Amino acid sequence: MSRVRRVDILVVGCGPAGLQAAITAATWKMKVLVLGKPGKSALAHAHVSDYFGVVGPIDGSELLKNGLAQAKSRGVEVVEEDAVELSRDDGLFKAKTEGGLTVLADAVILAMGARRERLGVEGEDRLLGRGVSYCAECDCGFFRGLNVAVVGDESAAAYAALLLADYASKVWLVSEKIMFSRFLLEGLKRKGVEVLEGRRVREILGENMVEGIVLDDGSKLDVKGVFIELGSRGVLELAFHIGLLPDENGYLKVDRRQMTGVEGVYACGDLCGPPLSLAKAVGEGYVAGFSASNYVRSKRRGMD
Ligand SMILES: Cc1cc2nc3c(=O)[nH]c(=O)nc-3n(C[C@H](O)[C@H](O)[C@H](O)COP(=O)(O)OP(=O)(O)OC[C@H]3O[C@@H](n4cnc5c(N)ncnc54)[C@H](O)[C@@H]3O)c2cc1C
Repeated sequence: MSRVRRVDILVVGCGPAGLQAAITAATWKMKVLVLGKPGKSALAHAHVSDYFGVVGPIDGSELLKNGLAQAKSRGVEVVEEDAVELSRDDGLFKAKTEGGLTVLADAVILAMGARRERLGVEGEDRLLGRGVSYCAECDCGFFRGLNVAVVGDESAAAYAALLLADYASKVWLVSEKIMFSRFLLEGLKRKGVEVLEGRRVREILGENMVEGIVLDDGSKLDVKGVFIELGSRGVLELAFHIGLLPDENGYLKVDRRQMTGVEGVYACGDLCGPPLSLAKAVGEGYVAGFSASNYVRSKRRGMD
């Protein structure tokens, strides 16, 4: 039997951006439904210590649990299923979920996060959040006085290594082929970063915490942290369905109200691009929830 829900605002994505958007829209008395699995949010793997008002480190999963309870306490309906289709039909947006639910809404907020490029080596998944990180800014503080490696070829990797050089006792930058400027390379050398060009990581060692990495020539680096800086892209498959295209870096473009190029569609969080951080996701989620609520109210006034 097909199930149908009619709401004011549909939020796709159950991470901090989507949940904050839902909380804000519910505060403005909107009927809101959120689709997505909180356990698949990037925040579920984080130990946060750089978010306003949180001294930390606090488990990201704890923040998600609180955000979810907060949204539900304001009347937000959360359906822990992925959206598999999104379309526009007769002035309404229509989403279908993997479980066969159909959601009809006046406005949509997209908050599906970003996909970080993975190294794809043994140990990467097991040790995520246990020494493996995709965010130097977020996690640098945990590596004071320790040895770390940064993996990547482009300027993001160089900037991560420069930042980490202020915290770690020793930083290696492992790059298959350096694609950043000579100026950055000189900066790295001045800061004592050891650049290993033409090398690849073969394996990340450790059971519960990172204990080292093995390179393709068989050598081992004694590190407690591995920062993977290979880039990221927004999760945008659903956005294509309603005619939204990514920018040249693979993210969704929005204006200051978090509105996309399609009327009634807002976006927030990691899928709108860097910095990929909790504070930005929550701030954008707040603005998207506020703007989408205004849109729905003015749509109603136009129909009076
Ligand atoms: C290991 C790690 C550590 C981090 N540490 C920090 C830190 O210390 N400080 C900091 O500021 N930031 C940190 N970050 C970054 C932070 O977690 C992200 O910036 C933040 O979670 C982005 O929020 P978001 O809601 O945009 O995306 P996400 O949190 O990734 O949530 C996206 C949601 O969308 C859902 N989704 C995707 N596709 C669909 C679909 N088709 N239908 C329905 N739902 C869908 C996903 O399942 C998920 O629930 C860290 C990230 C990682 C990976």
